[in-house]
Amino acid sequence: MNRELLNTILEGAKRLYPKEVILLLRGKKRKDAIEITDLLVPPLARYGQGFAEVRLHMMPMDFSIVGTVHSHPSGNLTPSNTDLNHLFGAILMITAFPFADERNIAAYNHDGEKLTLQIKES
Ligand SMILES: [Zn+2]
Repeated sequence: MNRELLNTILEGAKRLYPKEVILLLRGKKRKDAIEITDLLVPPLARYGQGFAEVRLHMMPMDFSIVGTVHSHPSGNLTPSNTDLNHLFGAILMITAFPFADERNIAAYNHDGEKLTLQIKES
């Protein structure tokens, strides 16, 4: 993912704070990496304090969607059990308060294992 995309995520999270933001990640799957190329606002996203919910059955059948990113206004970068139980796509990305830079973003796979995040300076 490039710097611009990262900043868009951080800005979006800041703007909705203290509410949660949730966005879909669109990208390309490679052999051992996933490149994130776009962000999409999910249909019927509902924002509230302490939860960001998407109606998954309303989701477009778009196979270029590789995961989701949502914010944790609490500042906790660890996925909750609910997060891991409601995975959509291959990547679960979390951005935590104060949404300043890449140190406030983490990505996880289905097993809750932390993935390496590479930021391309474009
Ligand atoms: Zn969460």
